[in-house]
Amino acid sequence: MHGTADSKLPGLGTTIFTEMSALAVEHGALNLAQGFPDLPPPQGLVASAEQALRDGVHQYAPMAGRKGLRAWICHHHFQRHGAAYDVGTECTIGAGASSLIFAAIQALVHKGQEVVVQTPAYDLYAPAIQLAGGTLKEVPLLDDQGQWDLQALCGACGPRTRMVILNTPHNPTGTTCPPGFLDGLQEQLSGTDTLVLSDEVYGPIVHDGRPETSLAAHPLLKERSLVFGSFGKLLQITGWKIGWAVGPAALMAELRKVHQYDVFSTGAPLQAALERFLPSAEAEDHLNGLASLYSRKRDRLLQGIRDTAWRYTPAEGGFFQVLDASGLIDNNDGQWARTWTRTHGLATIPLDAFYAPPHPMVRLCIAKEDDTLDAAIECLRQIAADHVR
Ligand code: PMP
Ligand code: GLN
Repeated sequence: MHGTADSKLPGLGTTIFTEMSALAVEHGALNLAQGFPDLPPPQGLVASAEQALRDGVHQYAPMAGRKGLRAWICHHHFQRHGAAYDVGTECTIGAGASSLIFAAIQALVHKGQEVVVQTPAYDLYAPAIQLAGGTLKEVPLLDDQGQWDLQALCGACGPRTRMVILNTPHNPTGTTCPPGFLDGLQEQLSGTDTLVLSDEVYGPIVHDGRPETSLAAHPLLKERSLVFGSFGKLLQITGWKIGWAVGPAALMAELRKVHQYDVFSTGAPLQAALERFLPSAEAEDHLNGLASLYSRKRDRLLQGIRDTAWRYTPAEGGFFQVLDASGLIDNNDGQWARTWTRTHGLATIPLDAFYAPPHPMVRLCIAKEDDTLDAAIECLRQIAADHVR
């Protein structure tokens, strides 16, 4: 065929994050849509990046990532989750967690194999599965009581299931994997070859003093799991696009076969900056303060709209808070989120971007300066006032 693209992903357009960020710029709206902080990164990290450039770190990093940074990542998993990973063979650094999740799916899912995904889900998984030739099997994340639905997940697993994808803290719902859930999943998967891909990019960001849950900490699931993290989320540097994967050597070897050709290696001076900064006291304080910082952000937003028609269940972790607009609008959240960007100067992400059934809900990023949150609260209050008759 000449001149026409025989698409491998028909029906897929530009991501909602790109669309809403562009719409926010076009209309000068506050952008609580795409998940990025407007908080500055720790200053010591910026100084380390300047130093790395002055030190002349300008050429390719090693394919798996700088060894010193991999050592920090492995130590981080050991410290937080008691999980031992080998620096040489069980950790890879890539262009954000995205590139490694994508590589893992391409490397490990064969044509016709099923991948079970809880929905609503982050939008990367489905097209990656489709490109690998896998079959997406969607199950609801939450039951009628709003709790993680173990039965639904286990019920979807069978002999054709190659992989289960988990995400905690969860994007977009802000829920977290509850205690006991992983034991139930392990029981279901025991005796099978099913792999687990655990997207933990918001890992330590848990609210209200909850414990952080990681597949790395589960002694049995760890052996069949790849776990993904992102410095973008932990250090307010989403634009750096540096993330990691840890997991058993045999799985990591397969992941690297794809990684070495789609990314090969990434951001050498930025990796050097991270390697220099992360062992510092400033870094430790920053990481230890993440959970309480974001809990306060969530509380500030919810406090500001508590006496309005917006409904919500407080998020349990991550960058996002979902607001329910069922008292305000019909089910067309996609249309309303775009309209409010123009009319009320606030960009959000409609939940219809993450799953099919109509829900009058929008997702807001709470990783924002207090002033930004306060301005967003004013917009939300105005929207509520204008819609309630
Ligand atoms: N997983 C989830 C659930 C996300 O929200 C994101 C987006 N930031 C990513 C993965 C990708 O992370 P990164 O920016 O490190 O590629
Ligand atoms: N993870 C971000 C979010 O959920 C978006 C990243 C992107 O734009 N690809 O908002």
